[in-house]
Amino acid sequence: MGAVYIVWFIFHCWVSIVILLVVMRLEGSCHCRAVQFACDSHTPVPYQICYCSVCRKVGGGLGTVNLGASHDSLAVRCGRDSIKVYRAIIDGKRAESQRSFCGECSAMLWLWDPSWPHLLHPFAAAIDTPMTPPDRFVAACMDSKREWVPVPAGVEAYARYGPLSIDEWHKEHGKYV
Ligand SMILES: [Zn+2]
Ligand SMILES: [Zn+2]
Repeated sequence: MGAVYIVWFIFHCWVSIVILLVVMRLEGSCHCRAVQFACDSHTPVPYQICYCSVCRKVGGGLGTVNLGASHDSLAVRCGRDSIKVYRAIIDGKRAESQRSFCGECSAMLWLWDPSWPHLLHPFAAAIDTPMTPPDRFVAACMDSKREWVPVPAGVEAYARYGPLSIDEWHKEHGKYV
């Protein structure tokens, strides 16, 4: 029995180490820190700024940067009762995607879409873990960008969305972890 336990223990440690090595743990919080959470990401580079009207308005900034993470890995450490969900109204219809935010301070936390239920898109602004900036930013939804909003120098800009998904961009640029 002891030997079985030791084998199980070693295997469990090995699996844990492999998981730690192949994903990046992102720690996040809202501004008032009522909500604190963590999630695992294979795609942690904040490379894409979205200037669509939803991202600009709900983010309260010039645009919003979303990351990719695994929905299964989401761990809400505290503040679950403070989390509210906004489903954006796009062209007069409620979107299926759900934007979670803190009901106390209004900080956006993450987006989840039932079309890709295994994915979670944390708002980069809510993440406290240091992240590596991209060599070159991608700008999405430039057709919705306000005229006074600047874009980073040398940006790769698209009227709507570029050809690469967040996963594909990370793999193509050697940033997938
Ligand atoms: Zn808050
Ligand atoms: Zn957007």
